[in-house]
Amino acid sequence: MRVAGVADIGGTNTRVALIREDKSLLAIDRFRTPAGIDPAEVTSRVGATLVRFIRSASVPELCGIGVSVAGPVDLASGSISHPPNMPFDEVPIVTPLSVAFGCPITLMNDCRAAVLGEVFAGGAKGYRHVVYITISTGIGGGVYSDGRVLMGRGGNAGEIGHFTVESQYMQPCSCGKAGHWEGCSSGGGMPGFYQTWCRVHNVSRIGTFGYTEDILAAASAGDPVVCAFIKTLAEINGRGISTVIVAYDPDIIIFDGPVVTAHQDLILYPALDHLDHYLPTPAIAISPLGGNAPLFGVAAAVFSREL
Ligand SMILES: [Zn+2]
Repeated sequence: MRVAGVADIGGTNTRVALIREDKSLLAIDRFRTPAGIDPAEVTSRVGATLVRFIRSASVPELCGIGVSVAGPVDLASGSISHPPNMPFDEVPIVTPLSVAFGCPITLMNDCRAAVLGEVFAGGAKGYRHVVYITISTGIGGGVYSDGRVLMGRGGNAGEIGHFTVESQYMQPCSCGKAGHWEGCSSGGGMPGFYQTWCRVHNVSRIGTFGYTEDILAAASAGDPVVCAFIKTLAEINGRGISTVIVAYDPDIIIFDGPVVTAHQDLILYPALDHLDHYLPTPAIAISPLGGNAPLFGVAAAVFSREL
């Protein structure tokens, strides 16, 4: 049976695995993404882990290697371009792995990979029109339409975190613009948006929440100010999801990322009450892949060789 080598390189952690064509995991490991001075260290660490797996599992050869990365990819050069949370301008991926392993290398943005992973082995099996939404440090999206992943000119289509969803607060976004979904509702943006919300509504008791988890814990405990903020957040998330629905008309939306998967009662269900229902509401599901959707997605790309 064919085996793919796969890696998901994030700003904080990197996961490396071997996945069989029957969708079973043969080996998986995780390490902190190298953040030294040499960007080649990222790729060499991925390669060394794959070599260790290949030897211990007695895999005769890989049919290909798939790599997903957080942030923009440069498909023309086969590298990660200006990755967020990594101190490098460019991380070469395709050429060094191709030289080391002599097999085809596939490079994808992690959210484009994740939606393919959900279709291949997760919660969207059998669907033709799928949107994957992850709410974690940022907000990202992947779109699968008419049986293909929507890639766009440079492989970066579906950057839904930068949909404009509000103009009342003009909350700054990590991209430098304002009013974007990610700036308000992501794990990285929510503490700053809470401060802005308190200021705009003249709430004198401004909390000192440094982390999104603290805000969500206060909401769970019934803090009335934070609960009012969560209502605003639900309206904004409803706008974001409504925009996704009219943009892509999916059969199903799969949600992933700890902000939403661990807080469905605070983040997901209240947002669904604010959908504008211009189009019929698609099926809504939580990813069953435990954070491994990008790995399964690049494996699917390796096996199919068609995107
Ligand atoms: Zn933005």
